[in-house]
Amino acid sequence: MSTWAHRRTKRLLTAYVDGELDQTAAVAAHLRECWGCSGDVAVTRMVKRSLRNLGDRDRDHDTLGALRLRRFAAQLGT
Ligand SMILES: [Zn+2]
Repeated sequence: MSTWAHRRTKRLLTAYVDGELDQTAAVAAHLRECWGCSGDVAVTRMVKRSLRNLGDRDRDHDTLGALRLRRFAAQLGT
């Protein structure tokens, strides 16, 4: 694994998870060999899914859990 590929993948992670990326194959190849980046993808997907579920269930008022999750997502740069 090259450091260059690792840095590039970190930058592109959110777009990759959102399906907005042209370089999907290159990122997928790096994820297969990089434990750190594949873990980040798993966490990002989990947070996004949770936010979607919260939005459906609790649209009118924020629970403490929802606020904390959104703050965490913001830190991830999602
Ligand atoms: Zn990596």
